Amino acid sequence: METILFLANPEADGTLGRAALDSLAAARALATGLAGAKLVAGLAGGDVQPAANQIAACGAARLLGVAAPDFAHSRYATDVVAAEALCRAAAATIVVAPATSRWNRVLPGVAQRLHGRIDTHVTGMAPGEGRPTITRWYYRQRMEAVVQRSQRPWFILLEPGCGEPWTAAAGQATIETVAATLTDADRRTTVVGIQAPPADEQTIRPDAKLLFVAGAGWTKTQPDGKAHAAEAESLILGFLAKSKASLGSTKSLVDISGEGQAVLKFMTHLNQVGQTGSTPRHPKGLATCCHGEEPHTVGWRFINERRAVNLNPNCSWAQGKADVLYVADAFAVMRKVNALLAATHG
Ligand SMILES: Cc1cc2nc3c(=O)[nH]c(=O)nc-3n(C[C@H](O)[C@H](O)[C@H](O)COP(=O)(O)OP(=O)(O)OC[C@H]3O[C@@H](n4cnc5c(N)ncnc54)[C@H](O)[C@@H]3O)c2cc1C
Repeated sequence: METILFLANPEADGTLGRAALDSLAAARALATGLAGAKLVAGLAGGDVQPAANQIAACGAARLLGVAAPDFAHSRYATDVVAAEALCRAAAATIVVAPATSRWNRVLPGVAQRLHGRIDTHVTGMAPGEGRPTITRWYYRQRMEAVVQRSQRPWFILLEPGCGEPWTAAAGQATIETVAATLTDADRRTTVVGIQAPPADEQTIRPDAKLLFVAGAGWTKTQPDGKAHAAEAESLILGFLAKSKASLGSTKSLVDISGEGQAVLKFMTHLNQVGQTGSTPRHPKGLATCCHGEEPHTVGWRFINERRAVNLNPNCSWAQGKADVLYVADAFAVMRKVNALLAATHG
C-alpha cells in the first residue's frame, strides 16, 4: 500500500503557488485512485502555518511541517535536510513535488539519500490498475513514455501547468512538527538577497494565457527596403505591457541578438521556443514574423490554439501547424492591435 507524500514550499507571501497546487491535485487523484493509499502533505519553509491552513481541506491523513528561518530560502544544503526529514517521517513510498527550480535542484539528492529513484519532467500520473504510472516526453517532446517503477521510494517532479490546481476554502490546520537537524556546514552558504528584474521587465510569464512569439522577420528588411528594429521593439514591448502575454522567440532571432546586432535587446536565449529551446504551456499562441519551421513548432506541442501572422501565404504555419494564419504585415497588425488595446485598457 502506497503512502503518497506531497511536498511543497510556501512562496514569499506564505501561501502555496500554482505549481504546488497542481501537484497537490495530482497527488490527491493518485491517492484516491489507488486502493488503500494514504496521502500525506509535507511543507518546508520559514513559517508553514499559512500554507497548511490553505490546504487544510485537502484530505491528507497527516500534515507534516519543517519550519524555521533556516528553511525559508532556497538553499540546497538545508532544503535537502528538510525534505529528507519529511520523507522519513511520512514513511513515503511515492513523493510528489512541483518541478520548480527549487525542487528540481533538491529532490534528486533526496532520492539518492533514501536509495530511491526519481523521474523528472513528469507530465501526468495515473493509478493504473493498482500500479501507479507516470507519463513524460522524450526527444524534445516527440515521444511520450508511460513509466512504472517497482523501486520505492519513488520521487516524481511534476511539471506545472499539466492539470488543474487544487482549490478549496482555507481552514485551520494542525501541523505535526518534524525535526530537521542542521550542522554548521549546512548553513555555510548564506542567502543575502534575491536579484531579479522588475515584474514588468520580466518577459517570460509561464502563467500567461497567451504566448506571443517574435521571429526573425521583425528585424529583416521590409517592403520599403529598410529594417525597422526600433519600431519592432516598441510594438512588441507595448503589446506585452498591455496584454501581459509571455514572450517567446525563434532561434534565428535570439541568435542574431547574441551576435550583438542592433535588434530586440530584451530577447535572450531563455525566450527561445522549440527543439533546442523550451516547450511552454499556454492556452493560446500567436506567432509573428516567424516562418513556423518544424524545429520551432515542435516547441508548440502544448499550445492549444495557434495563430500566426506572416506575409508569406506559403510559410510553414500554412502547412497545418496553425489553426489560423493571417497573411498580413505584422507591423500593421500589431500597430492596430496595440491601438485597440489602448482604447479598451487605457
Ligand atoms: C538542430 C536544430 C535545432 C533548432 N532548434 C530551434 C529551436 O529550438 N527554435 C527555433 O525557433 N528554431 C530552431 N531551429 C531553427 C529553425 O529551423 C528555423 O531556422 C528558425 O526557427 C527560423 O526562425 P524564424 O522563423 O524567426 O526566421 P525566418 O525563417 O527568417 O522567417 C522569418 C519570417 O518572417 C516573415 N516576415 C518578415 N517580415 C514580416 C512582416 N512584416 N510581417 C509578417 N511576417 C514577416 C517572413 O515571411 C518569414 O517567414 C533549429 C534548427 C536546427 C537545425
